[in-house]
Amino acid sequence: MRDIRHLIDGRSVEATSGRFSDVFNPNTGEVQARVGLANNEDMHTAVKSSLAAFEGWASTNPQRRARVMFEFKRLVEARMDELAELLSSEHGKVIADSKGDIQRGLEVIEFACGIPHALKGEYTIGAGPGIDVYSMRQPLGVVAGITPFNFPAMIPMWMFGMAIAAGNTFILKPSERDPSVPVRLGELMLEAGAPAGVLNVVHGDKVAVDAILTHPMVHAVSFVGSSDIAHYVYSTGTAHGKRVQAMGGAKNHGIVLPDADLDQTVKDLVGAAFGSAGERCMALPVVVPVGQKTADALREKLVAEIPTLKVGVSTDKEAHYGPVVTAAHKQRVLGWIDTAVKEGSELVVDGREFSLQGHEKGFFVGPTLLDQVKPDMQSYHEEIFGPVLQILRAETFEEALSLPSKHQYGNGVAIFTQNGRAARDFAARVNVGMVGINVPIPVPVAYHTFGGWKRSAFGDINQHGMEGLRFWTKTKTVTARWPESALEHTDSSFVIPTMA
Ligand code: NAD
Repeated sequence: MRDIRHLIDGRSVEATSGRFSDVFNPNTGEVQARVGLANNEDMHTAVKSSLAAFEGWASTNPQRRARVMFEFKRLVEARMDELAELLSSEHGKVIADSKGDIQRGLEVIEFACGIPHALKGEYTIGAGPGIDVYSMRQPLGVVAGITPFNFPAMIPMWMFGMAIAAGNTFILKPSERDPSVPVRLGELMLEAGAPAGVLNVVHGDKVAVDAILTHPMVHAVSFVGSSDIAHYVYSTGTAHGKRVQAMGGAKNHGIVLPDADLDQTVKDLVGAAFGSAGERCMALPVVVPVGQKTADALREKLVAEIPTLKVGVSTDKEAHYGPVVTAAHKQRVLGWIDTAVKEGSELVVDGREFSLQGHEKGFFVGPTLLDQVKPDMQSYHEEIFGPVLQILRAETFEEALSLPSKHQYGNGVAIFTQNGRAARDFAARVNVGMVGINVPIPVPVAYHTFGGWKRSAFGDINQHGMEGLRFWTKTKTVTARWPESALEHTDSSFVIPTMA
């Protein structure tokens, strides 16, 4: 059995806890490796290593740090096929989607390559008599990222790309369900020239997370995962004096107005609802057609489109999506479909019995469509995170607008229409963090920022873009006076200085 080990201080290191977690191949249902889970001691060793690396890395000039990021990007691109295969083999998403996962992470690395420009401070000459004021951004020190299973390349790169380019040293605690790609990314950072300890990869579960949250030398924590754990990480981390951003779950709605191009909308909805088996925080699992006529026409087109989807193993180039990540997650998704039916939803397409010939033990779930979903149903209220699309019919634009606005999650939302005025009004008023207009998965590009509202994110600074830079740095402001001669000496002042 292959053991997946920590990467600490430039070396592959065995977990000292003796605790392991199985890593499955979701296509076959077999255990393909086991990952060693950190205890406090492992985490403390990693923090010590990152602490030792910090001073040298923070004082490396930004252009040299950028060169490491450029080289890292080149190395990842050169190994794209190998990384995508590894990612798919543990996650289950199809290879093309794994390449997208890696590519979206690389786009943040590209932004991080511009760190010399992004870090430039502000300067005011002559803010007072002979007085200049300038502000600079400085790294925080040792910082950490805790990531979910569903984007094992993109989300680590969102975090460590910006943090490391800004001069911090980083501890990555990836998901224990698909930990191999994060280790490879750590190895490629070393190969790109990052000194040992600049990026340590430490595997684990709650024990490892708690060790990060309570360690006095970890100054900031970025988390992405489910909302209850995000809230726990936010409250525990901030109670221990850390800067924390914690992104949580989602239930994104797609609003379809009567004037939408329905053929295109159906193509968009099917990709966004079922791609990656629905295991995306920016998936579109709820569609809200406005008016019964729109709803009936949309349903008819969805019913025709869904059977054209091919569910297959992640290496099948023809497959639209692969298995979900674990048997436990498959059971959870099936459980939500059962609940939805019990609550009174109409099961239009049932994916529960889907089985892939030759891969009967794989964690596959067929595409599922539910209609007549109501706002008070638990299956609507909660995140299913599987290939399940729910139709919730609204009578009016205002009712459609209020559904995502009132939902506990506020990550993303999309509106499909040809009416610019309605789209503009919707985008301005909806109580959700990221909005798509005829764009089903509105994940902002790397130089803008990513972040949801309500229970989709705790903390108020987003991922990547200039907000990412703000999260991973602190501002220092210097007020300097250079008198021309001793004659300019002034008396003591007991009054707050002003520019009056
Ligand atoms: P998860 O919450 O189970 O795990 C996330 C991380 O928390 C992992 O590293 C895991 O090891 C750790 N963890 C697990 N249990 C813990 C505990 N009890 N205490 C402390 N840490 C613990 O999430 P997941 O299943 O890996 O990922 C899917 C979830 O992530 C979904 O809810 C999805 O919506 C969300 N997600 C959100 C975003 C976003 O940006 N808002 C992006 C991607 C995924």
